[in-house]
Amino acid sequence: MPFSVTILGSSSAIPTPQRNTSAQVVSLDGTLYLIDCGEGTQIQMKKFSIRFQKISHIFISHLHGDHFYGLIGLISTYCLTGRTTGLHVHGPSSLQEILSLQLQLTGTEMTFPFFFHSIDPGLHKKIHEDDHMEVFTLPMVHRMPTCGFLLSEKPRPLNIRKDFLEKESLSYEDIRRIKKGEGFINREGIVYPNAQITYPPVRPSSYAYCTDTAYSESLVPLIRNVDVLYHEATFMKDSLPKAEERFHSTAEQAATIALKAGAGQLVLGHFSPRYKDLAPLLEEAKAVFPCTELAEDGKVIAVESTRDHT
Ligand SMILES: [Zn+2]
Ligand SMILES: [Zn+2]
Repeated sequence: MPFSVTILGSSSAIPTPQRNTSAQVVSLDGTLYLIDCGEGTQIQMKKFSIRFQKISHIFISHLHGDHFYGLIGLISTYCLTGRTTGLHVHGPSSLQEILSLQLQLTGTEMTFPFFFHSIDPGLHKKIHEDDHMEVFTLPMVHRMPTCGFLLSEKPRPLNIRKDFLEKESLSYEDIRRIKKGEGFINREGIVYPNAQITYPPVRPSSYAYCTDTAYSESLVPLIRNVDVLYHEATFMKDSLPKAEERFHSTAEQAATIALKAGAGQLVLGHFSPRYKDLAPLLEEAKAVFPCTELAEDGKVIAVESTRDHT
């Protein structure tokens, strides 16, 4: 599975024996990104065999405790185990103050380069880019400044046809050029147009993490045609006044956003601990958007394009 999400926590506010607070790991071709880091996230990562030393970027949505209280513990473990590779944390500017104070007063000796990137939760903006992925902020509507994240895979290079690879002996440089779209001329002077010797790569996929938020249609154009949408569903629609008062969403509202955005698939999460049985939430959402599933701690979700190339 080249692009996937592992749910590490799907409970809102407080952990339960079955559900930890918010955190998830996005994996793309072996690169790991951590989104939110509720208390106990490192235990969840061990439980679900996540190689958490490989995480180089952490994105924090907002400063409610259920989304970041595990961060100092994770950083401490990195220090105690002698991590040497750099770590980038992206989050609201006050998080830097919190972490600095925690690290200073606990006398933590950093063993690795640490980079803090302050993000403006009110903006839709690219905040990270590497060889394979781009990450954008998504403004949420919550009781404090909060942003979701859109993780968008970059277009992959063209694939070279196998029969052509077997017929011609290509140098590394030839392969690089053909994959970028150039044609090829062999030693006998035979010209091969690029379209004849390549086939298109899989369409890039995208994943949106939207929590915590009240129902907000201004999100729709920012996540249009996203392949997998994780949207909070803290409450059911019979608790709509409570959802509105606390700036959270109902399962039906999450499904409405997925429908309006043309998402490929919806994953509900951030459930109120009041719900012991989540089947009614799933049913409520499916009535609006059938391709819905429930987040579950340890569940791995493939982020795949369900659409064709055109
Ligand atoms: Zn929360
Ligand atoms: Zn919150």
